[in-house]
Amino acid sequence: MDDYINNLPVTANIGKFQDPLTTATGELRAHVPLSNPETIWFNTGTLCNITCANCYIESSPTNDALVYMSRAEVEPYLDEISELGWAVREIAFTGGEPFMNPEMIGMMEAALERGFEVLVLTNAMRPMMRKSMQAGLLDLHERFGDKITLRISVDHYSEELHDAERGKGSLARTLEGMGWLRDNGFNMAVAGRIAFHENEAQARAGYAHLYAENNFKIDAQNAGITVLFPEMDMSAEVPEITTECWGILNKSPDDVMCSSSRMVVKRKGAERPAVLACTLLAYEPEFELGATLREASKLVQLNHPHCAKFCVLGGASCSA
Ligand code: SF4
Ligand code: SF4
Repeated sequence: MDDYINNLPVTANIGKFQDPLTTATGELRAHVPLSNPETIWFNTGTLCNITCANCYIESSPTNDALVYMSRAEVEPYLDEISELGWAVREIAFTGGEPFMNPEMIGMMEAALERGFEVLVLTNAMRPMMRKSMQAGLLDLHERFGDKITLRISVDHYSEELHDAERGKGSLARTLEGMGWLRDNGFNMAVAGRIAFHENEAQARAGYAHLYAENNFKIDAQNAGITVLFPEMDMSAEVPEITTECWGILNKSPDDVMCSSSRMVVKRKGAERPAVLACTLLAYEPEFELGATLREASKLVQLNHPHCAKFCVLGGASCSA
């Protein structure tokens, strides 16, 4: 999964995040209804060709905790969207590295044939650059054009910080993949990071420079196209979010990802996929909401530090 969340152990939240309905101080915990299902994510599997230092889903060449999803498993969910009459705009795929999954092209095709836009989060490295994947992508691009967007992980615009996270030489290989996408006319977006030492404007200027150098037509100033995640200190204390917090923070439950999306995963050893509240909490049983989208349309109780840190306070979103 190519979004950046520093996954260090949470040590400062003892006593908090226990009861789904109330906080440690007995107040009503905030919850989020699925008010506008807009994006359905599929986790294609946690295997990845590389091991990033802070991959929030702990992907690696050996982690198959979430196994490969198949086209046959994806299709019933796509059909259920129509049955439910949901106004879903986009089907998004994340991993792991989605192009490790041999059925990636078929899953994209299943979504595109039903009229959805398709977003794929990828590192644009060797798995995407294999001949079979290139051929499949070119065919889909010819048939569905701008309905497809590849959101590429450029962990940082500087080679030094990108490679520190992802391994030596990795920015060069990602830029090679992006060059292939550019030359073949694909829509590209980028997922990146605002490093501790810089502010958002500086980070966007850095990405703009990288795009100009490589002739990438990617808007560095558009937060939905160059999606930047702030670096966060996960050892810091996190407040619990109560129903009162929305008013205090001048935020709405509709602002957070679980109001507009769900993620389908298949756990190793499971007979069938399951639907989770969001992309950020893949391993938390409490955030597994059911086997179908209908079952998973229930309220989400914000009973995890990530809810406060990334969504309500930090404003991070995986679904821009
Ligand atoms: S490239 Fe792989 S290891 Fe790195 S953040 Fe993405 S999924 Fe995780
Ligand atoms: S981490 Fe964010 S999107 Fe996920 S359940 Fe918590 S508030 Fe919702």
